[in-house]
Amino acid sequence: MKWINHVAIGGATTALINPALVPVAMLGATAPDWMEWIAKGIGRPVKHRGPTHYLVVWLVALVAAWILEPTGVLAAFAWGGLTHIICDAMTVSGVPFSPYSDRRFHLFGGRFRTGDPAEYAISFGVVAACVGVFMMIGSASSGWYPFFYDWMGLYNQGVIDGSEWRANRFRFF
Ligand SMILES: [Zn+2]
Repeated sequence: MKWINHVAIGGATTALINPALVPVAMLGATAPDWMEWIAKGIGRPVKHRGPTHYLVVWLVALVAAWILEPTGVLAAFAWGGLTHIICDAMTVSGVPFSPYSDRRFHLFGGRFRTGDPAEYAISFGVVAACVGVFMMIGSASSGWYPFFYDWMGLYNQGVIDGSEWRANRFRFF
C-alpha cells in the first residue's frame, strides 16, 4: 500500500483517541517500510515485506506498549505499525504471519495491488468513518472517551491521585 494511505489510516484512527499522538502514529504507520531501509543502510538488508512486516510482532508490540502506558506514545507508534500490516495484508502479496511460519496472511482475500484505486477507496472510507465518529462523539481529548474512561485526564488534572489511577487504568468501562 502507498504511504499516503498508510498515514491516512493510522493517523485518522489515532485522532479518535488522542489528536496529539497522530504524528507518532503516522511515523509508526510507515515504520515497517522505513525499517527496511535502515536494515539496508546498516548492511543487513531484509526482504521487502519480510521481518519488518510480521503481523504477530506488531500485535505483541501494541499489547506490550498498551500495558506499559495505555494510549501512550509507544502504543500509538505500535498501533500505526499494526495498521500498516493490516493494510498490506489486503494486497495481493500479503504479509508474513510470524517468524515461525512462511505462511502469508491475507485480509479480505488480498485482492488489490499496491497503488490500485481500491486502496485509496479503503483509506478514504476509514478516514470518512473516523471523521463521522469524531463529529458524533467528539475526540477523546475533549473529555469523552468512546471506549474507555479518561483516568489519565483525571490524573493530570489532579482529581485523583497516582495510586487511584494505577488501580483503575486497566478498567475500560
Ligand atoms: Zn509495507
